[in-house]
Amino acid sequence: MRRLDGKTALITGAARGIGRAFAEAYVREGARVAIGDIDIDRARAAATEIGEAAIAVEMDVTRQDSIDAAVAQAVQELGQIDILINNAAIFTAAPIVEIERADFDRVFDINVAGTLFTLQAVARHMIERGIRGRIINMASQAGRRGEPLVAVYCASKAAIISLTQSAGLNLIEHGINVNAIAPGVVDGEHWDGVDAFFAKYEGKAPGQKKREVGAAVPYGRMGRAEDLTGMAIFLASDEADYIVAQCYNVDGGQWMS
Ligand code: NAD
Repeated sequence: MRRLDGKTALITGAARGIGRAFAEAYVREGARVAIGDIDIDRARAAATEIGEAAIAVEMDVTRQDSIDAAVAQAVQELGQIDILINNAAIFTAAPIVEIERADFDRVFDINVAGTLFTLQAVARHMIERGIRGRIINMASQAGRRGEPLVAVYCASKAAIISLTQSAGLNLIEHGINVNAIAPGVVDGEHWDGVDAFFAKYEGKAPGQKKREVGAAVPYGRMGRAEDLTGMAIFLASDEADYIVAQCYNVDGGQWMS
């Protein structure tokens, strides 16, 4: 018996990186998965590689019509949505005195409003159908403490932790558990962009920042997307039924260091 047999999931931003690893892990555990992403070509390629238990759904989490259409498509093709992972997000960095309002708006639109309104659309569906659903939001160690050049992203992830607490407390009366995962640094394409910011602002050579943060992780290396899948499966499983409004660190010890 696999832990997610018969379950269905919508995972946003799952065309690559951590979201894609979640999609693969969920399918291995018996779920059928909708890969929601703004990059529909890559979402389709991921779904094809994962196999018939995965479908691709075009989705821009900043647009309500796109969220609604994606949820409707996932419901139509999968039957219902039992699990949502709000994973889509972007990173940005700048010294406080150089932060631009447009950059702030974009990050909060995708990371925070995108999470809230996707959660809302899926929660409405779960309530209408009487589904005892699971919602997992992707936070970050960046949401637990500030970093000198990362104010906007850190604030967006702190907002995710707070939203998880409020939504978790609000939705549990409907039998919907909302929780979050706070990874530390995780290797992947996302880091190409992160590295570019630190090259610009700290004069780091390509790859240098990534090597430095990886070396500082108490576990001894950067995280890998696969390091997070166990928590994502657990929080979606029956064993996590009594867990409400929590945010779990999966970070190789970074939070404690
Ligand atoms: P990633 O950049 O590799 O992937 C993000 C995905 O989101 C991409 O496929 C992208 O196309 C999609 N996306 C972007 N904007 C979108 C939009 N408007 N609508 C729908 N999809 C959109 O990111 P990742 O490294 O895999 O991170 C996944 C999650 O984990 C994010 O929430 C991130 O903040 C969080 N996280 C990452 C790290 C890390 O070091 N990689 C650390 C802590 C937390």
